[in-house]
Amino acid sequence: MAMKINDECISCGTCVETCPVGSIVESGDSYSISEDCTECGVCVDSCPVDAITE
Ligand code: SF4
Ligand code: SF4
Repeated sequence: MAMKINDECISCGTCVETCPVGSIVESGDSYSISEDCTECGVCVDSCPVDAITE
C-alpha cells in the first residue's frame, strides 16, 4: 500500500515540512508523494483536511 494525496488537498504545503525523507513534492497545482516514501505515516496527521491516505 502506497501513501496517496487525494482531491481534498488544498495545497497548503504543511505536509512537505513534516516528511522526514522529503518525499512529498509539489506537482503543478497540487502535491504528490514520491517513491522514496517509507510509509511512516507522519504526514497523515499533519494534514488539516485529511487528504493523505494509505
Ligand atoms: S508516510 Fe512518511 S515518508 Fe511517506 S510521505 Fe508521509 S511523512 Fe513522508
Ligand atoms: S497538508 Fe494536506 S492539504 Fe496541505 S498540501 Fe499536504 S496533503 Fe495538501
